[in-house]
Order: sequence, then structure tokens, then C-alpha cells
Amino acid sequence: MNLDHSYATQLGDLGALTKPLGVANPKLVEVNHTLRDALQLPASGFTQSSIMSMLFDNTSSFTKHSFAQKYGGHQFGGWNPDLGDGRGLLLGDVKDKNGQRWDLHLKGAGPTPYSRFADGRAVLRSTLREYLASEALHHMGIPTSRALCLITSDEPVYREKQERAAMMIRVSQSHIRFGHFEYFYHSGQLDKLEKLFAYCLEHHFKSCANAKNPHLAMLERIVLDTASLIAKWQAFGFNHGVMNTDNMSIHGITFDFGPYAFLDDFDPKFVCNHSDHQGRYAFEEQPGIGLWNLNALAHAFTPYLSIEEIKLALGNYESQLLSEFSQLMHQKLGLFTPSPSTAELVNGWLDLVSQDKRDYHISFRLLCEINEHQLNPQLVNHFIQREAAQSWLSQYQQTLLEQGVPVEERQNRMRQVNPEYVLRNYQAQLAIDAAEDGDFSRFKTFLHVLQQPFESKPEYADFAKPPPDWGKHMEISCSS
Ligand code: AMP
Ligand code: MG
Ligand code: MG
Repeated sequence: MNLDHSYATQLGDLGALTKPLGVANPKLVEVNHTLRDALQLPASGFTQSSIMSMLFDNTSSFTKHSFAQKYGGHQFGGWNPDLGDGRGLLLGDVKDKNGQRWDLHLKGAGPTPYSRFADGRAVLRSTLREYLASEALHHMGIPTSRALCLITSDEPVYREKQERAAMMIRVSQSHIRFGHFEYFYHSGQLDKLEKLFAYCLEHHFKSCANAKNPHLAMLERIVLDTASLIAKWQAFGFNHGVMNTDNMSIHGITFDFGPYAFLDDFDPKFVCNHSDHQGRYAFEEQPGIGLWNLNALAHAFTPYLSIEEIKLALGNYESQLLSEFSQLMHQKLGLFTPSPSTAELVNGWLDLVSQDKRDYHISFRLLCEINEHQLNPQLVNHFIQREAAQSWLSQYQQTLLEQGVPVEERQNRMRQVNPEYVLRNYQAQLAIDAAEDGDFSRFKTFLHVLQQPFESKPEYADFAKPPPDWGKHMEISCSS
């Protein structure tokens, strides 16, 4: 299996060559065949024996250039220069069928120069959660890093209790974070910052390299991509939970999964991260935090851009996010011809669902069943405020009639943007509990379900149910 090593070879002084450290009894338990094929990687490389020798044999050429990247980050608003790949290694990059480059990164690979006092490992539970979430988001059309394969082990690791280490190979355009730029800027290493920019313009922002002002074009691109991403999180009810700038990808993709959650009952103030006592990363704060993070990133552009130019680039964020969010919401409501009155309907709907704290996803899916030519008691009965629901529904039905899309066509289109199956934390936890006892069948089934989120199947009815009370607002440990 051949990899390029552009980061390690071009930016060798922005990190450290580091070999993965083997674990007790490693087992390859899951391979993402679709992704493997899309990346033109050979099936023969993804067998138990070949992957283990590629990753852990001392003489393996596959890890000759494996590399820990240095970065920093603003964590909960405070600057931390002491970050970097503490438990993950960049293995190298490959090109897919379309010539697009992708990084392969081994998470949980053992200690690196940036591990500080930690063990360089990832626990099975967090690895399974990242695998499930990234596949779920991808199949809902939300940009994200992907999971290529999962390796379990009997290597003990110690968190609140003893657990077992696992690894995954993660794939994304690059693993460059906002915090990479921030680190080299704030530490005054402007020569390295310059090299990082040059590398990004050469490999990742090619179209910007030819612009009149490449740095401005690059910042504008990152601003727009980040705004689009967060619009999608808001529309699909995803709470990331740790939007520190070291967890923000320059490609506007979902990156670094921690205590994330999809919404259950719609509470805009929902905080999935139980160590986030101030609610800094609450669901409804995500758009504002996205801009805060872009502003932190923009400081690293000041050697190249004037304050006016930076303001110009950041100034596009809000309008991009709002227009994309509105567009998605119109699609989710089946209102394909937007107008000021349809925007009011969207807002009225969100108010209704949040005031009554109804399940976010089930409410939208129920909306797909509306027939504008009939009474729809199911929808009215779904709410506590029945009068308000009835009045909203009457307006909605009237608008649908005016829009004139045939019922079945509209319903089908709505079902393509309103998932039947969403990653519920309690379902993930059930899969994790079984996997920790050695049974991965539940994880595999759930993964399969999440890879086809829009198509209702009777055999998966259990996965579409609302969570039981014990399964709502679960405390997910952050010590991953
Ligand atoms: P995260 O919470 O995964 O976003 O990581 C924040 C920082 O802590 C990053 O620099 C990680 O590389 C580092 N880190 C997290 N867990 C470990 C670990 N078990 N061993 C070494 N470094 C870690
Ligand atoms: Mg992180
Ligand atoms: Mg993480």
C-alpha cells in the first residue's frame, strides 16, 4: 500500500516523526469497504495480518514517515500552546479516483512528543463513538472526517476505570486545524507559518493560490465552509460539544468527536458536554462560536492581510450561515419556493417544537406524512399546545396547496432530508456495552442503519423510536 508523505517531507520541522506503538492482541474488527475502494486502497492491505505488519513491524515502510503534528488551540476561550498530536499520527496521503487528496491518520497510536503526561491511547468506547458519528454525519450529507477501519486490543488503559485501547484510521482532506496556524503565529515562528500557508495553498487551496490575494481568498474559503458546516449542524440537530480551535478543521468539516450528541427533545440551550458548565458550546451557541473561532484563526492571517481585509472575509460568515440554514429548513419543511411567509412558517415550526420540547427528528419526520388535502390529527396530537399547532398546521397546509408540488413527490423529497434514523447516544451506548463484552454485532448493525438514514425499514423500527427517559441527556465521559 503506497502513501505519499507530503506533510512530513515538506513540513518536517512542524512536528516530529514518530512510530506507532503496538498493543496487546490487536484485532481488525471493522473496515469501511466503500471508503477503502473510493480511495483506491487495495483490499489485500486490509486483512488482519497485513494491516498489523504495516502498522507495527519495525521494518515497515508504511510508517517510515508517520508524523505527529504540532498545533495549539483556544480551549473554552483560553489559549493553550501545549497541544499537538498526542495520540494520533499522520500516516500519509493518498489520491482518490478523482485525484482528490486524503490524509490517513492513525488515532490511538501511542505516545508522541506532544502527549505530555498522557498515554497516547484512545479507549474503545470513544473510538466506536467517533466511527458511528462520522459515518452518520457523512450519510446525512454533513461534511466530516471518515472512519476507514477499527482495531481493538487487550491493551489496558486507565481512565475513571480500567478500559481497553482501540485505534482507528481516520480519513480527511487534511488534519490541519485552526490551531496549527494559531500556534506558529502566537509563538512568533513566522517562517514556519509561511511554510504552512505555502503548503496549504499548494495542496488544499489551489484555486486560491491563483487569486489576486491568495491569503484573503483562503480565509474567505474557510469562513464560507465553516458557516456552511455549522448551518448543517443546526439544521440536522447536531451538538459538537468541544468547539475548541484545535478541533476545528480548515476544510469546514466535522472534526474530533468528543461528547457530541444529536438533539433528542428540542432544547436550543442543550449542552451535550457535561464539563461545559457555562454552556459555551450549547447547541444554539454553535453559530456564534464558529465566528469566534474564525476570528481566532484570522489573527494568524495578520502578517498577510489588513484588518479591513480580515473584516471583509469574516463579514461573509453570518449571511452564508443564515441563508444556508434557511434553505435547509425550507427543504426539510417541503417548502420549495421560499418567500417571507414561508420563512415565518419555518420559525413558527421551530418555536412550536422547542416550546413543547418535542423530539427534534421525530417531529420533522412526522411532518413528512402531512397530506395537505386532509385533516392531520396525528400532527396536532403530537403537541401540547394543540391550538397553536392547529393554527400553524392550517397555514402550512394552505401554503403547501399554493406551492402546488404533488403530495407524494413533496413527501419523498422531504424524506431525503429528514432522517428516520439518527445516532441516539443511548443506542450508541448499548452498542458500546456489547462491544466491551466482545460482541460487535450491535455496533455493526447500528452502523449499517446509520449509513442509510433516510429510508424507513420495518426491521429497524427500534432504531427510529424516541429514546426512553433513561436514554436522554446521557452523561458521556470526556476522558476518551
Ligand atoms: P482531544 O480532547 O482529543 O481533542 O485532545 C486535546 C489534546 O490532548 C490534543 O493535543 C490531544 O492530542 C491530547 N490528548 C488527548 N488524549 C490524549 C491521550 N490519551 N494521550 C496523549 N495525548 C492526548
Ligand atoms: Mg482534539
Ligand atoms: Mg478528540
